[in-house]
Amino acid sequence: TDERPRVLECRDVERRFGGLVAVTGVNMHIHQGEIFGLVGPNGSGKTTMTNAITGFFPPQKGQILLNGENITGMAPHKVARRGVARTFQNLALFNGMTVLDNILLGRHVHMKPSVFRTALYPWLARPEEIAHREVVEEVIDFMQLENVRDEPVDVIPLGLKKRVELARALVAEPSFLVLDEPMAGMNQEEKEYMARFILDAREERGVTVMLIEHHMDIITGICDRMMVLSYGEVIDTGIPKDVIADPRVIKAYLGG
Ligand code: ADP
Repeated sequence: TDERPRVLECRDVERRFGGLVAVTGVNMHIHQGEIFGLVGPNGSGKTTMTNAITGFFPPQKGQILLNGENITGMAPHKVARRGVARTFQNLALFNGMTVLDNILLGRHVHMKPSVFRTALYPWLARPEEIAHREVVEEVIDFMQLENVRDEPVDVIPLGLKKRVELARALVAEPSFLVLDEPMAGMNQEEKEYMARFILDAREERGVTVMLIEHHMDIITGICDRMMVLSYGEVIDTGIPKDVIADPRVIKAYLGG
């Protein structure tokens, strides 16, 4: 058995939308330092689980524990302040703003409103704003975005946009990072780059990662363990090698 602390634990989670049961009976846990894959065909409940965990759509049944503490029903900004950062399936960047300013927005969880305002206007900088800037600069360097830092975010290629999103999540200095399809729409080279950044974030920044993905091939290479959802229920959890060989998983993916 794995003795590492559990960063996340979900117990018997259920979320409905009207009459539709989006997920039910979901039990899962993620150990500190793991890269954990949440996989399943479209509509299987991956985003619903993400929204339940991050507080956007709390479950109607069951419990969510973060580092052993019950956070079920907690507001998203409070979950964020406890060290959870996420990216979104569809890019949530602000077009017209630069790469730098988009990344700076990720710092807001640590800022008082007044500090946040002046952080966008560096000529008003005070020492605490300078500290925020230092984190941002370090992450820009880590994510290799220095060449595009002053570009409007809408003009850069998709692969770089996804990197900006990851950078924005990292400047919050999270302990738990939830990535919703970080490689969607990327070409092979961009995917490999992104996989490397995720692995390095775990290695160098100590983050625990939950990675949502509907393509199996991408995820099996970088996950320690993975869980497969189908029609809102868990059909398997384990190491990638075993999960991809599970007949129930193969059937779910073939649409049988
Ligand atoms: P996935 O992320 O695996 O594609 P989702 O969690 O988005 O799956 O969807 C699971 C089910 O819940 C789908 O039937 C979807 O239509 C429904 N659903 C998800 N979010 C909402 C919502 N906000 N309102 C209504 N139905 C939703």
